[in-house]
Amino acid sequence: MIGVPGLLPTDRLGRPLRNLRISVTDRCNLRCRYCMPEAEYVWLPRSSILSFEEIDRLAGIFAGLGVSKIRLTGGEPLLRHDLPTLVSRLSQRAAVRDLALTTNGVLLAREAEALRAAGLRRVTVSLDTLRPERMQEFARSRRHADVIAGIDAANAAGFAPVKLNTVVIRGYNDDEVVDLLEFARERGAEPRFIEYMDVGGATDWSMDQVVSQREILDMVARRFGPVEPRAEDAWAPAERFALPDGTVFGVIASTTAPFCRTCDRGRLTADGTFLLCLYGEDGLDLRQLVRGGASDEEIAGRIAETWTRRTARGAEERRDLADRGVLHRIESLRADPRREMHTRGG
Ligand code: SAM
Repeated sequence: MIGVPGLLPTDRLGRPLRNLRISVTDRCNLRCRYCMPEAEYVWLPRSSILSFEEIDRLAGIFAGLGVSKIRLTGGEPLLRHDLPTLVSRLSQRAAVRDLALTTNGVLLAREAEALRAAGLRRVTVSLDTLRPERMQEFARSRRHADVIAGIDAANAAGFAPVKLNTVVIRGYNDDEVVDLLEFARERGAEPRFIEYMDVGGATDWSMDQVVSQREILDMVARRFGPVEPRAEDAWAPAERFALPDGTVFGVIASTTAPFCRTCDRGRLTADGTFLLCLYGEDGLDLRQLVRGGASDEEIAGRIAETWTRRTARGAEERRDLADRGVLHRIESLRADPRREMHTRGG
């Protein structure tokens, strides 16, 4: 079913606004080749980054418009000082039924308990490889052991199940799909394999590096036996599957089989721009409204109006291109850092 009853806004394709991804910082402590491959970045000015009070106020306004799921992301969200304080504010909002965090895990071991105590419900950790030397080469970091410790700490803190995100890239980690699945199974975590996307930041993207959902499922089936699709929430981005022993894993096929028709996600950049699509340029400057003294009603009205006009189908439009190359080259990202994945929130 598309659309929700009542006065909540739906866009031109009948999609409600139910999910909000909030980027709390554009900074990151990794330099993954598919997201932040450059040595130098133009950071958003500190004064432009929304305060916790501003984020929380906006979250309340979004919740009034139907948002019940919030995911904190970045950049690396755990680089934002005192994140549990923000979590604690957001978790007190009854309308926000699902509060989650996506992190690279490097700093998670020291934060997991405080986040849980503050009311965080779910954690997703990005884990592209089990091999420290690969992480060093691909993300320019020697902190692989810290990521594993972060996953263990999240488990111990009671985030069950922890989800693990792996972007599968041909020639880099496509030989680790089975190992990552086994690793997750041993830890009681749920792995999700993500097709490599041509988003801003992926300046070296090419279609031949994309390992499709079909290929991923074939690899898994060759090792573990027949893979069964599970009947799921049609609005969720990950399609979930079960192995013969009941182990569940997900695949996010945003490149070869995008889910635009059921995309109910808005995004809030760290500097307060409300974006309608991971690929899109259209946005609404909420920071200006918040700092300019607009009332909650005015802001809600502007968000609803913007959402109602939404037609975005970014991933489908990319899929339908005859000659698909990178979305943005480095010059275009430097001209507007909000085009970067780490600024708009992955
Ligand atoms: N720093 C946090 C992390 O690493 O999870 C949160 C931000 S990161 C941008 C969010 C997710 O986006 C990660 O799981 C990352 O792997 C994914 N991502 C980044 N670039 C991508 C790309 N080109 N294709 C697919 N996924 C990508």
